[in-house]
Amino acid sequence: MHSTTYLTLDRDVRQLRQPDLDAFTAQISGGVLGATDAAYDDARKVWNGTVDRRPALIARCLTEGDVQAAVRFAGEHRMLLSVRGGGHHIAGNAVAEGGLMLDMSGMRSIRIDVAERTARVGPGALLADFDREAQAHGLATPLGINSTTGVAGLTLGGGFGWLTRRHGLTIDNLLGATVVTADGAIRGVSATREADLFWALRGGGGNFGVVTSFEFQLHPVGPEVYAGLVVYPFSQARQVLRAWRDFTAGTPDELSVWAVLRKAPPLPFLPAAHHGTEVVVFPLVHCGGVAVGERAAAAVLKFGDPIGTALGPTPYAGFQTAFDPLLTTGGRNYWKSNNFSALSDAALDLVIAAASRLPGPECEIFMAQLGGAMARVKPDATAFVGRDARYIMNVHGRWSDPADDARVRAWARRTFEDATPHATGSGYVNFLTEDEGERVAASYGTNYARLQTLKRRFDPDNLFRMNLNIPPADGNRPSASP
Ligand SMILES: Cc1cc2nc3c(=O)[nH]c(=O)nc-3n(C[C@H](O)[C@H](O)[C@H](O)COP(=O)(O)OP(=O)(O)OC[C@H]3O[C@@H](n4cnc5c(N)ncnc54)[C@H](O)[C@@H]3O)c2cc1C
Repeated sequence: MHSTTYLTLDRDVRQLRQPDLDAFTAQISGGVLGATDAAYDDARKVWNGTVDRRPALIARCLTEGDVQAAVRFAGEHRMLLSVRGGGHHIAGNAVAEGGLMLDMSGMRSIRIDVAERTARVGPGALLADFDREAQAHGLATPLGINSTTGVAGLTLGGGFGWLTRRHGLTIDNLLGATVVTADGAIRGVSATREADLFWALRGGGGNFGVVTSFEFQLHPVGPEVYAGLVVYPFSQARQVLRAWRDFTAGTPDELSVWAVLRKAPPLPFLPAAHHGTEVVVFPLVHCGGVAVGERAAAAVLKFGDPIGTALGPTPYAGFQTAFDPLLTTGGRNYWKSNNFSALSDAALDLVIAAASRLPGPECEIFMAQLGGAMARVKPDATAFVGRDARYIMNVHGRWSDPADDARVRAWARRTFEDATPHATGSGYVNFLTEDEGERVAASYGTNYARLQTLKRRFDPDNLFRMNLNIPPADGNRPSASP
């Protein structure tokens, strides 16, 4: 660290006293990086290449004590504070411009209790870490579909993936957590300890503190599942998407079939003539036994005349990495998402129309099939309210040349706006971009007032505001009691 560091504070800019900085640096076991340190540029990078922010300090936390010291330091010096888990959130809130970023990537431990079927997971762990350790024992909990995503951010916003219809959202499998709150206290939370805070953490994003440890319920899964892809030509889009919509109204909880509209990558099982052309892909996973899965998914092959299939017994942990090559770190990304309780013919038609205008070879529209166990949890049981989402659509603009920024974003926004009249009006905070702060209240719906009240109790000064922010309830106005 160098002797003079200017920090952009919340309300002003002032010089931090060197003795304070030295004392802080001495407290952080993984060290503190500043702009002149060699590791600084790598440490501030996140998945979305459009995010290029420069924190004044990066605290590399390795222990709960490090996190506590960093939270206290940020509070005392009124520094903008951000928390980086896996660095995947599209909004880039993991990185505080001019502020203090907590880098949790050194806290990646996973401990599996095979007898109890539970996992204790560090806040820097990636999905790949968790799946690998749990699958070594034939166990898993619902996580997302890109293995380089962070467990922390995914969990705090809700978390859905291939196991969600069978076992619920990631938060539905969260048994407890340890969290450092804005007052610097370390709190253990569960259904029976600090139950209000536990409720808020399950969907409330990073608004309520820094989680230093998660405890999850695990379930027997695989290790082989019936999974893969069925690909149809774009000319059959109307027919196959309607067939998919009708089929997914009655699928067993073990089976999830998503729909993806994009230009075909050069996959070996697709005829070369289709590479680079628009296609409809149905990725699917059945987590209830390979033979049963094959029977349950057979109808997907009959939606139309497929141009390629890659289906069969597959290691679950392997399929969890299947989409990684399309979603690597550093690309430019912008997306807009909508929740749907049902998909009308008109909604599907506009998705097809948007896919016929894809602004680039990496852009796609995906529709995840939800429902099942996730929908059987009451909307007020956790902070995550959008249990009625049977499908989440994400219009994913992805490109590499900054000159395309406006064009690709315009495509995603227009598609989102066209689809909005068909959607529930709710959103998924883990998918909201930095310019969608106004969608936060709607995304929490009837849980929002309780969240604001709890925010006032646990973070009255809004120290944790680098997130899809829930401002504390106004003390002068009545709000729902927690
Ligand atoms: C390619 C890709 C695929 C995805 N697929 C899915 C999917 O299948 N299912 C799904 O549900 N979501 C998916 N997501 C969304 C994902 O859940 C969110 O981006 C999530 O926030 C990522 O978590 P992270 O830790 O990697 O992100 P980060 O950017 O590091 O963190 C996001 C936010 O979470 C908070 N946070 C992180 N760690 C902590 C902590 N320890 N304590 C308190 N707050 C913390 C902070 O507010 C931070 O700004 C995907 C995202 C990407 C980019």
